[in-house]
Amino acid sequence: MSLIVAKFGGTSVASPERIQMVAKRVAAIKGAGNEVVAVVSAMGKTTDELVSLARALNTDPPAREMDRLLSTGEQISMTLLAMALSTLGHQAMSFTGRQAGIETDGTHEKAKIVKVSAKRIRKALDQGYIPVIAGFQGIDFNGDITTLGRGGSDTTAVAIAWGIKADVCEIYSDVDGVYTADPRVAPRAQKLTTINYDDMLELSSVGAGVLQMRAVEFARKYKVVIHARSAFTDTSGTYIKEATSKMEEAVITGIAHDTSEVKITIRGVPDTTGIAAKVFSALANNTVNTDMIIQNISEVGLTDITFTCPEADLKRAQETIESVLPEIGAREYDVDEDIAKVSIVGTGMKSSPGIAAKMFEALGEKEINILAISTSPIRLSVVVDGAQTVAAVRCLHTAFGLDSENIFKESQLSAEELAAKLQKGR
Ligand code: ADP
Ligand code: ASP
Ligand code: MG
Repeated sequence: MSLIVAKFGGTSVASPERIQMVAKRVAAIKGAGNEVVAVVSAMGKTTDELVSLARALNTDPPAREMDRLLSTGEQISMTLLAMALSTLGHQAMSFTGRQAGIETDGTHEKAKIVKVSAKRIRKALDQGYIPVIAGFQGIDFNGDITTLGRGGSDTTAVAIAWGIKADVCEIYSDVDGVYTADPRVAPRAQKLTTINYDDMLELSSVGAGVLQMRAVEFARKYKVVIHARSAFTDTSGTYIKEATSKMEEAVITGIAHDTSEVKITIRGVPDTTGIAAKVFSALANNTVNTDMIIQNISEVGLTDITFTCPEADLKRAQETIESVLPEIGAREYDVDEDIAKVSIVGTGMKSSPGIAAKMFEALGEKEINILAISTSPIRLSVVVDGAQTVAAVRCLHTAFGLDSENIFKESQLSAEELAAKLQKGR
């Protein structure tokens, strides 16, 4: 007998019919002699709809109220799944984040889990219930509801898996595993059988939306094995776990893209000591998360400073720059919202020279202009024009030998659908 946490994302619980399918799946896990805890996301696009509702009334809604509102989405699906399970003859009991013992810090909208007290879940299991937990939410030290950042139900699942010492944390979604690139963007992407925590963490941190970064971080820290798999088929998915010598180590494990950042260039900045410090400390003080930074070589004592940040931080970034512009004596700034960060990731990169050259050549051959570059020991990222995102991902996928013979079966998206999908990150 195994103890399994099974998390179902928004698409998997998008309608009563799908919830019924999920219920059957959960029942089958139990029927096979396992103990099972389900974790659910909000139905379909519920969270997006709640965000729009809030924004219709307040363009900058108070974070505490926002968390209270957003947490309701998961509370609908948890009760419906519990009801569906009971029609299948199973005793099920739903739990909010608080009831499941998820304690967080007080950072509304992207709270961090600080403690998991899973006693109540354990007790429910011992009494023969199937616990169904609302993902994405917790409670802070004030007793206020917090949420864990978009995609945060993955993190709930991993934290609960750790809290109840589950054998595996199964994350069910509309894709049957982790691929070498988003298969909807690169149809020749290949499904990975296993991926180590470091590669997965890096991929998630640069936009591979299949798993929330925090979930991978948590899993890596506490050695929780994740099995990312399809909610609609029985095929085995991808195991995310510690690297073993048996795992084949490709130089490049995967490619990710992220269209949720914007690029800001401050022009005509005097090239004197301390200017960059002034700009970036002002941005940090205003909680703007800067990512890539480039300062061009000055020709006549003036230079340009370019950086990227999440689009969500753009308003604060603009306010900050407008206030420091006169102080630093810079001329002007401009914003480019239509950019994408495309990254290649692989722990094998550490010991392989020439990766950067190969990446730049591949992009150059397709006439894709590189607007900024950043690196880590196991990642290389470039910023490109948003319109070239798909071409960049596909050409790098081919250049690094990742193309599969098969074409991802569900990837027949039209150009419009693909563009809409890429906009999803915003
Ligand atoms: P859920 O709503 O169930 O949490 P998500 O939409 O968050 O599911 O994650 C699944 C999606 O992640 C897929 O539809 C796929 O388009 C996208 N994705 C991005 N990168 C990858 C990747 N490397 N491998 C698989 N899927 C990916
Ligand atoms: N419902 C939340 C979101 O849409 C959390 C999740 O799905 O994991 O971001
Ligand atoms: Mg998700």
